[in-house]
Amino acid sequence: MGIAAAEEAGARDDGRADRRVAAAGGEADAFHTQQREIAVSVITADCVPLLLARRDGGHVAAVHAGWRGLADGIIPRVLAQLEAGDEWVAAIGPTICAACYEVSEVLALDFARRFPGIPAADLLPSHRHLNLRAIADYQLRKAGVTAIDHAGGCTCCARDASGNPVFRSYRRGDRNSQQHAGLYIVG
Ligand SMILES: [Zn+2]
Repeated sequence: MGIAAAEEAGARDDGRADRRVAAAGGEADAFHTQQREIAVSVITADCVPLLLARRDGGHVAAVHAGWRGLADGIIPRVLAQLEAGDEWVAAIGPTICAACYEVSEVLALDFARRFPGIPAADLLPSHRHLNLRAIADYQLRKAGVTAIDHAGGCTCCARDASGNPVFRSYRRGDRNSQQHAGLYIVG
């Protein structure tokens, strides 16, 4: 079984990252395949891990969407390339929540300008706190993908019964430790 994984953008994204959509292994923000038993996966530590599957099971994709990718439209571009609409389903995995994700004033204003269609209470529920999950959800719905499963909680503040962090979070201080999200077409 081949595995194609995208690296966590926060670790390498210098603003000049080449955002590609790949149909094979390598370094990219999104992978897709129509081949059986080829896994597509992404590695994240706060950013949005998005998994997509056509309802007939014939095509799957994994997308890594950090704030840059969301702003740059990685999700709409992947959906356009896949010609995805309501015949697709999506799952958004553990993502840093708005309460834990404080951004600069400039970035908050930039997102408010880029996404006028998202209610302010969803996009920026409190001052300079950006909701990445809401942006991904909005972009999916805009493309006609409305079957969206929000899996997992916040990478930064989710705790288990013992009070220990459930996920790896770059914002919380984890380095070189992330979580994988992936899927493949069963043979
Ligand atoms: Zn949180």
